[in-house]
Amino acid sequence: MGLTTNQILQNQSSTKDTPLLQVKDLRKYFSVGKQQLKAVDGLNFDIYKGETVGLVGESGCGKSTAGRTIIRLYEPTEGEVLFEGKNIYKHTPREMSELRKNIQLIFQDPYASLNPRMTIEEVVSEPLVIHGVVKGVAKRKRVEELVELVGLSTDHLNRFPHEFSGGQRQRVGIARALALNPKFIVCDEPISALDVSIQAQVVNLLKSLQKEMGLTYLFVAHDLSMVKYISNRILVMYLGKMMELADSETLCNQPLHPYTQALLSAVPIPDPTLKRERIILKGDVPSPINPPSGCVFRTRCPKAMDICASVVPEWVEQKSGHFVACHLY
Ligand code: SF4
Repeated sequence: MGLTTNQILQNQSSTKDTPLLQVKDLRKYFSVGKQQLKAVDGLNFDIYKGETVGLVGESGCGKSTAGRTIIRLYEPTEGEVLFEGKNIYKHTPREMSELRKNIQLIFQDPYASLNPRMTIEEVVSEPLVIHGVVKGVAKRKRVEELVELVGLSTDHLNRFPHEFSGGQRQRVGIARALALNPKFIVCDEPISALDVSIQAQVVNLLKSLQKEMGLTYLFVAHDLSMVKYISNRILVMYLGKMMELADSETLCNQPLHPYTQALLSAVPIPDPTLKRERIILKGDVPSPINPPSGCVFRTRCPKAMDICASVVPEWVEQKSGHFVACHLY
């Protein structure tokens, strides 16, 4: 027997405090002509204060849309997101404006997300100006604190984004996201546009800021090696649906779902004496306009069975805190 939305959330929270954020049966469909593109199709999970939940999957699996719907940059088609117990989709514009101080987004592309005509000081102070939090000397002081917090110098404040490297621009984006002292940040593929050598620096910065400021992250990415490094728990998505959820170590060492196993087989092992068999998935992610019947992963699954074409696998707790949607379990 599978679990209802409330049972899933109750089980996930059985050993922990009240969640900071609860995602309940969240769906986001886009109209494409007369058809519907099901980008997010039934997400249920919690995020606790101070933790990082990694959201992984290939391009087109709906993870970025999920991140943006969770912070209400997109209106949902169905479902709820409770932040500190309140459904954010029912907030008035004034309540949303207050909420925006607590919920921020770090963008994927630091090149595109910074206005090229604004100085770094203007970029970082923009949220302070929009929300009218501080002015004048206090504003300048806050901006100086923020750039130093992310490892930049106050000498950089009068420069423009094009004068910086990709890693430095992402630091500027992080400083801007921190300006209002948020509690929760969606990091939307924050390192995928950066050189590999810079990726670890940015992830380490996010980790140390989390410790220092008690931040909570939803870390959206397709690279499981970095997600494993920063996340407490990992949720694997495919075609808008949840495939597997567990703490990072369990998910990476004992993956249950064939899709998770395939994603992990592509992660390089640092020890050259160890070998891992690479699982090559056939074809691309199918169109979310016309997803496969039964298990949405079945057209690419090396372990697919007859039942997989006709019956949607239920979301079951296989071991404590380890959930999977697959007929093998
Ligand atoms: Fe593969 Fe079937 Fe499991 Fe889907 S339900 S992942 S097709 S074995």
